Amino acid sequence: MTLLLDHVTLTYPDGDGRLTALDTVSLEVTAGSLTAVVGPSGSGKSSLLAVAATLVTPDSGRVAVAGTDTGGLSRGEKSALRRERIGIVFQQPSLLPSLTALEQLQVMAHLSGRRAREVRDRARELLAAVGLDGETHRRPHQLSGGQRQRVNIARALMNEPSVLLVDEPTSALDHERGAAVLDLLAGLTRERGTATVLVTHDRAHLGRADRVVTMLDGTLC
Ligand code: ADP
Ligand code: MG
Repeated sequence: MTLLLDHVTLTYPDGDGRLTALDTVSLEVTAGSLTAVVGPSGSGKSSLLAVAATLVTPDSGRVAVAGTDTGGLSRGEKSALRRERIGIVFQQPSLLPSLTALEQLQVMAHLSGRRAREVRDRARELLAAVGLDGETHRRPHQLSGGQRQRVNIARALMNEPSVLLVDEPTSALDHERGAAVLDLLAGLTRERGTATVLVTHDRAHLGRADRVVTMLDGTLC
């Protein structure tokens, strides 16, 4: 199991009490499969991704990524695990305004200390895989919203993650571009063997998922 959440509960401080964002949530995602998470706003979808990304530590329960139980890891070990094993795509592409598409990807891998040549080849290959071979030297303002989201996805794959976590990638896109991004994610999941969790509002695209789960008030069903 590439991503495993086992009886995960997460609460946030809320006035005098606590708000339960995740209530005993269990989820298993295998390599090369895409799980879509749907559910109303505030139901806990982003919290689920934050816990899976090891960005937030749950109150109880177990999170394992690529066979590593994250419970006993130090902050430094968690950030190494994130860098090496987890790709994260948020709703709004957070691209650096002054960098070209190619450079957005290269920056990621330089952080992990790989050779420049290898990094550039991989960045080019990934931009081609997301259909941006002709756009590698464009900066964010020279790209459409859909193209920026593709750069964002390619960047998340730079370090060959085992787990890919994607939060509402199509919310800023029209239906057609949203569908294209979802097709792309489904294809990349299979080709690259990632365990992918996709949060989406858009039920129209769910046919591309191997499995669809629903969050309701912090509970997965
Ligand atoms: P979704 O992504 O489904 O909209 P979230 O996971 O963002 O849901 O939020 C689940 C619940 O947790 C909501 O009630 C939200 O207000 C609350 N919440 C989310 N993040 C925080 C936080 N950092 N501090 C306090 N409450 C939060
Ligand atoms: Mg959310």
